[in-house]
Amino acid sequence: MKKDKLFYMLLSALLLTSCSNNYSYKEQIAIENNNHENNKKEKITQIEKNNEEETVTQIEDNNDYIYVEQVEELEENEHIDLLAIGDVLVHEPVYKSGIQSDGTLNYDHFFYNIQSDLDEAEIKIVNQETILAASHYGFSSYPRFNAPEEVGEAEVNAGFNVILHATNHTMDKGEKAVYKTMEFWDNYPEKAVLGINEKEEDQNNIYIYNQNGFKVALLNYTYGTNGIPLPSDKPYLVNLMDKERITKDVKLAQEQADFVVVLLHWGTEYQYTPDNYQKEYTQLLSDLGVDLVIGTHPHVLENIEVITNSKGHQMLVYYSLGNYVSGQTKKDRVVGGMAKVSIEKDYKTNESYITEYELDPIVTQQGEYTAYKLEDYTDELANQNRIKYKEGCSNFNVEYINDLCSDILGDDFSKSEQKVKVRLK
Ligand SMILES: [Zn+2]
Repeated sequence: MKKDKLFYMLLSALLLTSCSNNYSYKEQIAIENNNHENNKKEKITQIEKNNEEETVTQIEDNNDYIYVEQVEELEENEHIDLLAIGDVLVHEPVYKSGIQSDGTLNYDHFFYNIQSDLDEAEIKIVNQETILAASHYGFSSYPRFNAPEEVGEAEVNAGFNVILHATNHTMDKGEKAVYKTMEFWDNYPEKAVLGINEKEEDQNNIYIYNQNGFKVALLNYTYGTNGIPLPSDKPYLVNLMDKERITKDVKLAQEQADFVVVLLHWGTEYQYTPDNYQKEYTQLLSDLGVDLVIGTHPHVLENIEVITNSKGHQMLVYYSLGNYVSGQTKKDRVVGGMAKVSIEKDYKTNESYITEYELDPIVTQQGEYTAYKLEDYTDELANQNRIKYKEGCSNFNVEYINDLCSDILGDDFSKSEQKVKVRLK
């Protein structure tokens, strides 16, 4: 499609330069844009050709004829693929997996097995459960985590462009470590680092991913920070869930964007279904007309739901994606999920919607500390997974994982395809 587009652009450039006037391409476009204001006569001929729509606009201007060619793809819908993974939870063995022979740290191995999926998506979201300030305050594991900045570098290398930092562990090392984490991310200004804010005005700024005018707003909050209060003079440091705040932000996001995604750190740990707190917020978000909700925190997968509100608006909810990588020692905690959501904006109707959603179960390979898609996972890999040798995990194998996913995800989980894949439009 891109090649075709390039061809038509070249063709139009050729036609433009062959016209008997000295207008530059930019000026031609400006003339085209001012067309209505100037009340010029317009004649539009539409030619359909090989899935491309070519619109030729002839403008009569003081007996001079300027040919402006507007190239539009017939496929007028703008399409975005969004991908999200769950918790990157850096326990001690996970930290150690990145120590190189020369003493430097590298965590690129976390993402090797999902790289092709990442390469196909435009919005790529990771829940960075722990702060990244180990170079300043030292590494620490549970219960107050501090992970190396190199984990963030691996996320950058893998191509993640939306990093979630509103978690219950954000304040584990206090305010200073949150600021050091933000300082680290300042090295990558093109990345959207959500959930933590340097200044009050940053909290009020809604992040919007804009692809050719299709605007997707992304908001991130956590239910709390493990009892560690936010600094009294900086209540904006971490985005906490609060109905009033979320309502205000969602409304603002809807004014500025076509599609609103709310990313929540919530729920009850190790529970496969949403608790009352999740249900309450889900109701609020559905009433507000949010389009997509992706949850993290329970460390296990939770079910997926499509909820229709009283106005007929559909909202898709992944209650929890579970862990992506962790050192947790129960077999259901090495099974997480990768959400893939295809969204579209129809420029004719100005509507945006989900066309298809998917959940690919993810298996954390402990020992190696990478993760595999379930469809790529084998009993041989299960036998090499350190989890298998933990108490109560001797039956950890592909069949166990399939059964677990089926129990949690219900009928939409296909045991033959080893994923959930649902077409909505
Ligand atoms: Zn958490």
